[in-house]
Amino acid sequence: MKKMIRRCPICNNEYGEVYKTIKMKLPQDVKLPDEYDVVTCENCGFAYADVDATQDTYNTYYACNNMYSADAALKEKIVDIIADERELFFENNISKNAKILDMGCGSGALLTKLKRKGFDKLFGIDPSQESIEVVQKHEINVQRGNVFDEIPRELVHSFDIVCFTAVLEHVYELNRCIEQLQGYLTKGGLIYLSVPSVEEFGKKYRPLAHYCNHEHINYFSSVSLDNLMRQHGFDVYLQQPKEYDGEDSKNEHEMDISCLYRYVGKEVKSEIKKDYIGRKSILNYLELEKENETKIYNKILDFIMRRQQKIIIWGTGAYTLQIIANIPQLSERILFFVDSNPLKIGKKIVGKEIVASSNIMKVGREYPIIICAIRGAKDIEKMLHEMNIENEYIVL
Ligand SMILES: [Zn+2]
Repeated sequence: MKKMIRRCPICNNEYGEVYKTIKMKLPQDVKLPDEYDVVTCENCGFAYADVDATQDTYNTYYACNNMYSADAALKEKIVDIIADERELFFENNISKNAKILDMGCGSGALLTKLKRKGFDKLFGIDPSQESIEVVQKHEINVQRGNVFDEIPRELVHSFDIVCFTAVLEHVYELNRCIEQLQGYLTKGGLIYLSVPSVEEFGKKYRPLAHYCNHEHINYFSSVSLDNLMRQHGFDVYLQQPKEYDGEDSKNEHEMDISCLYRYVGKEVKSEIKKDYIGRKSILNYLELEKENETKIYNKILDFIMRRQQKIIIWGTGAYTLQIIANIPQLSERILFFVDSNPLKIGKKIVGKEIVASSNIMKVGREYPIIICAIRGAKDIEKMLHEMNIENEYIVL
């Protein structure tokens, strides 16, 4: 049990149980803490990252590191599958006449699908200018902004539905966020939320970076999500835990909680129900992690020890950032990092530059490569072959 730096973002309690310290080496332009504890709240059981930051820190980070924008390389099959599921959810549950706001609409994945299905009172808000321009091309009303901005007067209490999908796991101040969202809703209006489920932890082994990283700082179960929403006068309208399998179902399994909450008013105060799911899932995960993580770290150490030259690391996601922090010997051996996301090129991690893959052909031909990506490893391997890169490599 410890006194937490970040009070429970749901019930504001100060004490919690610590399970694991997450360490990472962030790119030098990222001004977020590079270490935090994964905890559960002693009072309500919510699992979250006890990170020493503020909401403003994250707002600045997302404004400058928009990996979700139109150009970013987030074109995985599973993202598409999830968007299709959301579309179906709306078709089955929402009237075509509803006035809908997608807060954090990105480049309009959901809005364009809804438009095609005949929903026509659509509106989007997103912090990214590039994203907004993409949405505008589809003739959907959109404006630039963040959920924490002051609500434009003409939008106050004016929507039947506010969508907030795949965002809440990134939010530092959950209570303030829900208050803001409620400000856009009409009386009796609905919030559509979708978050990754903490129950996925430990279902099968994946590097911890997949669940707990610098961006994902809240680990919801349906119990915790209800606790959060009920405190703000919302009632469950419809809730569906949803499991997705991507193309390669073994490696692309995701579990989301998608639900609609209805605003019934703050007069009805509801009791907090303790969440036991977060704790159980984290403990299951740590059990699995013990053997798997050691295996991966030994594989890396063995690989670099047997070779007396510099190495290239392909992939600069959270997995890489955590591996570098946990294997100090690795940093000095890195020649450079490779990433396919153009937004990352030129940035530095542990003083080493992130470059495009073409640099391997130019200056990296004789160096071994470590492919380090949770989801994209197969695609990277394919690229190596397509580019006729014959360097020795391993896949983590
Ligand atoms: Zn709590």
